[in-house]
Amino acid sequence: MLFHQSEKGYARIGRQLKVTIHKGSHEIGGTCIQLSSGKTSLLLDAGLPLSAESKPVDLSRLSVDALLVSHPHQDHFGLMASLPPGTPVYIGKMARSLIDATQVFLGRDRYALEFHDFKAWQPFTIGEFTITPYLVDHSAADAYAFLIEAEGKRLFYSGDLRAHGRKGILFENLVRRPVRDIDLLFLEGTMLHRNNDLFPDETAVENTIFKIIRQQRNISFLLSSSQNIDRIVSAYRACKRASKLLVIDIYTAWVLEQLRQITQNTPAMDWLEIRVFASHSQDERLKANPDYFGDFRKRLYRHRVKREDLRATPESFLYFGKMSSFRLIDEFKSATAPVNVIYSQWLGYLDGSHPEYFGSDRVSAFRSDPAVNFVYAHTSGHAPVEDLQRLATALKPSMLAPIHTEHSEDFTHIFANVVTLNDGEVFDLA
Ligand SMILES: [Zn+2]
Repeated sequence: MLFHQSEKGYARIGRQLKVTIHKGSHEIGGTCIQLSSGKTSLLLDAGLPLSAESKPVDLSRLSVDALLVSHPHQDHFGLMASLPPGTPVYIGKMARSLIDATQVFLGRDRYALEFHDFKAWQPFTIGEFTITPYLVDHSAADAYAFLIEAEGKRLFYSGDLRAHGRKGILFENLVRRPVRDIDLLFLEGTMLHRNNDLFPDETAVENTIFKIIRQQRNISFLLSSSQNIDRIVSAYRACKRASKLLVIDIYTAWVLEQLRQITQNTPAMDWLEIRVFASHSQDERLKANPDYFGDFRKRLYRHRVKREDLRATPESFLYFGKMSSFRLIDEFKSATAPVNVIYSQWLGYLDGSHPEYFGSDRVSAFRSDPAVNFVYAHTSGHAPVEDLQRLATALKPSMLAPIHTEHSEDFTHIFANVVTLNDGEVFDLA
């Protein structure tokens, strides 16, 4: 074999594709994969680890031409700020809007990177790579799997995906009309030792919300993520069926506003059954960023609900909040009519090791509070094993590498052609 030096440090004459999982081979979160062809080096996700013990990848030591982001969850994009300014970042348009929104509401600068968007199912190139994004069903909006072709090789990266959300048809389409001739499949395995039996899909979640709020004598709170659009839809549909009003905060209203770029079918603040609760701190963000928000603040105030309205007829409302809503929940506690707290995200966040979720300790304590009726209603953003098997069987990859999993060692019992790549290991797909 002949070798010669290039700007990227190494290059071999002839066809080669080097694959390195920097993080994610043995953990959920922090996903970061590097793909290097002869001339182009591409980063596939730049995730922040979810576990406090896991050290983030030092992106400054990697020389990459571009970053490709699968979806707007922190454990897939959270490190991108540490890329050199001006690094091209390829990401869905909506996904980028949602990331911007979070930065603005946190009072942080938006990212100084060179963003490029792509369209679902339309191939585009980054240097020597040709990428085809496949829109997938996940608990984040604008989430993609990618077919990545370079040097005569075909890789498929699942990203995070599932079949049981409101866009499950996207998963079924992948199974029914699979991408062919995959040399290497990176398959997420979040659910390898978890199951979804209590709530197999969003409809099951919606039905539980409906049952709780239908008979309520006090307000109900639903604690979830404002970017989990399927969950907002479930909350909205339950409210409509139970003749209740759905209360969202300013941030959630802005997230829904962003969705208007791609669809008119998701709930928005101007829908009849929706009200906006304007907290002082979020309103301050609107005032501080008038150019960014345009006339949103003015429009928002037509749909506002005030604290005194909630107090006057608490049984009329379902409040879509997050862990940090615990103070508001405390205000509605009553000995005669317990306040419903519908916990609608992963229960693991309540185990005491997630201080980054402000209020998680207080929400955890609601479980044993007699003034609170604590209800769990959640379905995962990730496919259970049976669905992953259906996908792997359809794609028939020559090699299947575990990613985004705590149980990569079990992949060989479940899937065919498994190769386990450890973090930092350089794999030559020649
Ligand atoms: Zn995700």
